[in-house]
Amino acid sequence: SKPPVTVLGLGAMGSALVEALLVAGYPTTVWNRTPDRAKPLVTKGAVHATNVSEAVAASRLVIVCLLDYKSVTDVLDTAGDALAGRVLVNLTNGTPAQARQVADRYDVDYLDGGIMAVPPMIGGPGAFLFYSGSRSAFDTNRPVLDVFGESQYVGTDSGLAALHDIGLLSGMYGMFVGVLHAFAFVGTEGVPATTFAPLLKRYIGGMLGFVDGAAEQIDKDDYTINVVSNIAMQSAGYVNLTQSTHDQGISPELLAPLGPLMARRVADGHGHEDLAGVIELLKKGKK
Ligand code: NDP
Repeated sequence: SKPPVTVLGLGAMGSALVEALLVAGYPTTVWNRTPDRAKPLVTKGAVHATNVSEAVAASRLVIVCLLDYKSVTDVLDTAGDALAGRVLVNLTNGTPAQARQVADRYDVDYLDGGIMAVPPMIGGPGAFLFYSGSRSAFDTNRPVLDVFGESQYVGTDSGLAALHDIGLLSGMYGMFVGVLHAFAFVGTEGVPATTFAPLLKRYIGGMLGFVDGAAEQIDKDDYTINVVSNIAMQSAGYVNLTQSTHDQGISPELLAPLGPLMARRVADGHGHEDLAGVIELLKKGKK
């Protein structure tokens, strides 16, 4: 028979986690600040605990998925002695520093997690989750964690899951920024977004090779490796991007910051190198 699991937090994500556990046959105890949210899960077989310490006492493995780290400490601080010796898996989104603070705050075997999926994807093939912290907690509870999606352990420092999580989100938001700007830009001349979308997807897909090329240059600290389009040329082109954005009457604020960074690399004598060298300016935090 499968070991019991407790889940604290039944928002959109917590509820999806519980449903996946129930489908997989894990006896699941649930708690939520607003008790009504437990009802649909109880119908599907979950046990509803009336307070946090009762919920925590029900299972050696306790999973918490709340809005933010403030809600995590608000809730776990009420657990009292019940937490001692438990495995705590925190799937709440937060910063690396917050993860390390929670790891230090409670007498638990701590595993932090980052969920790279939206609730409907939980338990499906597209979902994956980062974990960091206690290696033994990860290994011992791996079958349970694998219920949610593909589990990726990224290191014993509990902050590393959040680091990887936010790293991926950074790439995602960068892409969103470019897509929104592009739609706004062509929209100024009445090009429908749905007409432009297939071209945008094709071009962005073709540009994905940048990731590997930049990665090699960054790790080798050499931005002259395999330069296809040097930054002097790109910087000149970017001036046109910024200028035409103004001319078309839309705000350049989503894409504007890259222009001055490229210009500085060129001015500093790196014009023959690749765009990826801009990362040197970020690392130094130079103004
Ligand atoms: P919801 O807004 O749906 O749920 C928030 C949960 O937090 C509820 O259970 C709510 O309780 C609880 N909560 C908030 N504040 C407190 C508090 N002070 N004390 C006790 N409980 C509190 O969010 P999600 O379920 O979607 O997200 C949960 C976590 O999962 C977040 O950290 C989110 O970033 C992360 N995540 C979510 C994804 C998504 O697409 N939804 C994707 C990846 C990660 P109550 O019901 O009483 O309000």
